[in-house]
Amino acid sequence: MTVTTTTDLVSYEDALASYDPVMGLEVHVELGTKTKMFCGCSTELGAEPNSQTCPTCLGMPGSLPVMNATGVESAIKIGLALNCEIAEWCRFARKNYFYPDMPKNFQTSQYDEPIAFNGYLDVQLEDGEIFRVEIERAHMEEDTGKSTHVGGATGRIHGASHSLLDYNRAGIPLIEIVTKPIEGAGERAPEVAKAYVAELRELIKALGVSEARMEMGQMRCDVNLSLRPNGTEKFGTRSETKNVNSLRSVERACRYEIQRHAAVLNSGGTIIQETRHFHEDTGSTTSGRVKEEAEDYRYFPEPDLVPVAPTREWVEELRAGLPELPRVRRNRLREEWGISEHDMQSILNAGAVDLIAATIESGADSVSARKWWMGEMARNANESGRPIDELPITPEQVARVTTLVKEGSLNDKLARQVIEGVLAGEGTPDEVVEKRGLKVVSDEGALTAAVEEAIAGNPAIADKIRGGKVAAAGALVGAVMKATRGQADAARVKELILEKLGVEG
Ligand code: ADP
Ligand code: MG
Ligand code: ZN
Repeated sequence: MTVTTTTDLVSYEDALASYDPVMGLEVHVELGTKTKMFCGCSTELGAEPNSQTCPTCLGMPGSLPVMNATGVESAIKIGLALNCEIAEWCRFARKNYFYPDMPKNFQTSQYDEPIAFNGYLDVQLEDGEIFRVEIERAHMEEDTGKSTHVGGATGRIHGASHSLLDYNRAGIPLIEIVTKPIEGAGERAPEVAKAYVAELRELIKALGVSEARMEMGQMRCDVNLSLRPNGTEKFGTRSETKNVNSLRSVERACRYEIQRHAAVLNSGGTIIQETRHFHEDTGSTTSGRVKEEAEDYRYFPEPDLVPVAPTREWVEELRAGLPELPRVRRNRLREEWGISEHDMQSILNAGAVDLIAATIESGADSVSARKWWMGEMARNANESGRPIDELPITPEQVARVTTLVKEGSLNDKLARQVIEGVLAGEGTPDEVVEKRGLKVVSDEGALTAAVEEAIAGNPAIADKIRGGKVAAAGALVGAVMKATRGQADAARVKELILEKLGVEG
């Protein structure tokens, strides 16, 4: 067997000319329950290390787990939203392996009896086409603790002098969602992978079961990928790139693995089944460990937990309570707002769909709501490196700004300053208007005085306008705006100038 260790790549186009990619995506979602899956410890982030632990999540002898009902309910909701069948009866299983951040030496998970199975998620690609991704299963499990390796240069265990363990995360409920092999995506495999994870994230958020923030590890994706020669049926050997934690990385990891597999196969090498790590900086993957077979884990049913047997009434109740699916909702909003697929895609990518919808609900018109969120706020989020929905401005406040513009007490330029003030923590829009003294000068007397001054100060331009060159009025409008520190209504200023000079507008 030739184990190829080079990082030679075949160009993406050449790889696709010879091979057909098959993918499998495993997504872990940390649920937003208040307490852990099998004990009452808090799941709140940011606490002192090991302050949110108890004998159960520390795996002390004699401690007993108790199932979190909200965790089960969230799992069923996810299963239903993914068009899955919900098990009438299923159990947890022990997945046995040793890892320092897992004090029980087994992970409580589900094996051959997942709570949800056999579903699908339809995802919309950039060109509007719908691609159906089949779901194998969604099962419940628990998260591990967190290790920090100290003393080395890289933060990895290699070269570290010692390691610290924080068990606050141990036992936080996770749902693992596994797709069936995704075939038929061809050259769009990376796009499909990204669109699937994006849609799944929207769905999870809409269900209200998790905030699904990838950058915080609340949602992470393992990308399985194999190639088979074009026109053949049998799957190739897969690699499994672990814990990919952004949408862009999912796409890049998939693309990279296609190019790497093709290079190995073209040179007569063999792909070994292994886990790999994705590196954001280089966009490449490196070898992890050669993968254990499932039976290495010695799965067996968890004897300390009762089986899960959701009644059909409960399941139907949960089904009836499901929210409108994100893709359906997006299409509805797209029509209501009268925008293109492409514009909606940009709004989705900016994470602004809900914010814009809420701004409109608070009274803004859709054009203004989109303008401010996709302009000022998207730029501010970008520059400050914050998610747009964490900016210190609310949809209600943005709606208030649009009202002030509509009433004529702010123009766009002033509105921008108001938003800037709100984002800088200076208070509500009205408070910023007050403190910064931002108001369109609508007092006709003051405006007329400023207009007369501008005319007197620019006699040559005034003559041109008198002579019929209306376009020259722009320079005078500019002078008035300058004199009023941008606080005049430009349209009204122009009217006044033309009136004074006796010209028809
Ligand atoms: P494991 O726990 O070993 O990763 P799973 O069955 O849970 O195995 O997940 C494997 C994922 O990879 C699934 O999404 C599955 O559909 C997919 N998969 C299985 N075989 C292949 C293959 N040859 N090529 C690509 N994907 C595959
Ligand atoms: Mg796996
Ligand atoms: Zn605990």
